[in-house]
Amino acid sequence: MNFHVMTLFPEMVLEGLGTSITGRAMEKGLISIEAVNIRDYSEEKHHHVDDAPYGGGAGMVMQPGPVCGCYEDLCRKMGKRPRVLYMTPQGRVFNQSIARELAGEDDLVFLCGHYEGIDERALEEIVTDYLSIGDYVLTGGELPAMVMIDCISRLVPGVLNNDASAEIESFHDNLLEYPQYTRPEVFRDRRVPEVLLSGHHKNIETWRREQSIKRTYERRPELLENANLSRKEQEYLAELRSGERADEED
Ligand code: SAM
Repeated sequence: MNFHVMTLFPEMVLEGLGTSITGRAMEKGLISIEAVNIRDYSEEKHHHVDDAPYGGGAGMVMQPGPVCGCYEDLCRKMGKRPRVLYMTPQGRVFNQSIARELAGEDDLVFLCGHYEGIDERALEEIVTDYLSIGDYVLTGGELPAMVMIDCISRLVPGVLNNDASAEIESFHDNLLEYPQYTRPEVFRDRRVPEVLLSGHHKNIETWRREQSIKRTYERRPELLENANLSRKEQEYLAELRSGERADEED
């Protein structure tokens, strides 16, 4: 899977993603991350890429020429025109199912804005998807692009040591993940739930599913509307809702 990031700050993207799991995935050739400097496509003597907004108002706007020039050059080198995701607070809010859908592409281009954003005509020319990471405003699109690349990379086969861990964690089945424990068995008088020490795989699986449902009910109840629950699990949820199971931890 190849990620191409169009940005004014390539070093920010490469340094951020060059470490840990994404860094190792790059070393193994499972993903590639290229950051292209939009400034290199400025035709202006001082390499300016922004100017004041027509109609007045605060801040500066990135000009359309360098943005489109940068994308056209990428396309020429790749021999295709991949999807262009514009990082914007005005976009659809990124989530795990969008990540799964994007993970099916071979190449993705991330367009990072700065200042007041990018001239609308460049967006009309090249952008296919408008994506946000949440309802707040950041200084630039680099962090959102890094968030999305990190998330999508985890879904590329081989990137995680244990591929199963991407399948059963939070947002799988529209549920949050169950609580996790490791050694020691007792920490500050808090014991690991007995069932996890039992070695009884079926009971552990049932406990984990119930904990996932309980946690989702308590923290993100709206997710349960689209959760895929068995009849027994629906009964368990009904008990939670009626308050009968509210105090049970394990
Ligand atoms: N004036 C723009 C508006 O009100 O919609 C905001 C511009 S913001 C200061 C600069 C750049 O940061 C945007 O072009 C976008 O690339 C990025 N950005 C800011 N917040 C974001 C968010 N929540 N999600 C994705 N990108 C964001």
